[in-house]
Amino acid sequence: MAAKGKENRILVTLACTECKERNYITQKNKKNDPDRMEFRKYCRRCRQHRLHRETK
Ligand SMILES: [Zn+2]
Repeated sequence: MAAKGKENRILVTLACTECKERNYITQKNKKNDPDRMEFRKYCRRCRQHRLHRETK
């Protein structure tokens, strides 16, 4: 894959804060989102919406 421009876009993994299952992978811009991102998404293991937090 050819990288375009600056390396500000990085892949982050979103893990359920309850069961720690890593359910989602997304991209973010390091400049726009320097902090950890959090999303409310559906967790398959919990079978309900949970807060998912960026993990490494
Ligand atoms: Zn979960």
